[in-house]
Amino acid sequence: MAGVYISYPFCAQKCTYCNFASGVFPRDLEPGYLDALRTELRNTEWPWTPETVYLGGGTPSLIDSEALSTLLSEIPAGTWQEATMEAAPGGITPEKARAWRRAGINRVSLGVQSFNTRELARTGRKHTAEIVEREIAALRAAGIDNFNIDLIAGLPGQTLESWNHSLEWVERIQAPHVSVYMLEIDEDSRLGAEIIAFGQRYGAPDIPSDDLIADFYEIAIDRLARAGIARYEISNFARPGFESRHNLKYWRREPYLGFGADAHSFDGRWRWQNPESLEDYLCASRSKPARTPADPTAEHFFLGLRLSEGIEGDWHPFQSAIERFIEDGLLEIHGNALRLTSRGVLLSNEVFAEFVGEPVS
Ligand code: SF4
Repeated sequence: MAGVYISYPFCAQKCTYCNFASGVFPRDLEPGYLDALRTELRNTEWPWTPETVYLGGGTPSLIDSEALSTLLSEIPAGTWQEATMEAAPGGITPEKARAWRRAGINRVSLGVQSFNTRELARTGRKHTAEIVEREIAALRAAGIDNFNIDLIAGLPGQTLESWNHSLEWVERIQAPHVSVYMLEIDEDSRLGAEIIAFGQRYGAPDIPSDDLIADFYEIAIDRLARAGIARYEISNFARPGFESRHNLKYWRREPYLGFGADAHSFDGRWRWQNPESLEDYLCASRSKPARTPADPTAEHFFLGLRLSEGIEGDWHPFQSAIERFIEDGLLEIHGNALRLTSRGVLLSNEVFAEFVGEPVS
């Protein structure tokens, strides 16, 4: 069964750590973008009824409730098992939550990143732990019990104490799903570029050491497991039954169609990607992107190994690399499956590079 991904790259502010193709674009581009999305959806020949829908970005929670309903009405409605809205805390009202539920949304992914106000303020985020708690209550009151909390390990000024404080909040609000991402340092974010240039802005000199970030990650695995939220993918943790059905499709190589700027698609054989920038997408929305054949063997390894359950099947194509990683304690055989060890999870890019020729994040 397949999924639908819709990209909405508009944000109210650009967070310092963010390296996505998202940003603060002129508001008057939004109606044209929503039109282009509707047209792209309407012109699609649907080979199947979607099982999952995911609105990501950017900040799709900024979409006006009526426009959201119209947009979602372009997707064949069967019984969507899961329909997720990515949301920035600080803008979820009880009315908005009810409108989302009416439009078919049954899961919300909250870009909380930290429950520490000082850490948040340095990244450009304006919410507080109390605002998140209030907005989760609004979601629950609207009938949306399924939600995710995003956390970032490695923010400027983060300490063991502040990291544990964030995890305490995760337990307190009884999150069914948590994503823990390591701070990515590259030229595509303002903070990353500042760190690379040994600059002072955005708290760049205060990022924790790699060892401390690795400690944050291991503390999260341990604390969340004790709270009944088990790791099922390198960055993702869930209570039983709350694993993200849509994201599992990516790692299990199930088909999905992506709509909007920078959206990726996979039909089981071919992969293709819409133009990355908003402007290019709006200009090119009538032409079809080029398709490249998927590489099932390599993908089975570097996507499937992200999952805690690991992979089964023929390991022959990478036999010697696998034997070396097992000897080095990065991979292990568990029953019939091959999977990353705890150390292998921390060094997963090194393992994946063997299967794709370059690191995958
Ligand atoms: S982190 Fe989220 S809200 Fe912040 S700029 Fe990136 S996409 Fe927008």
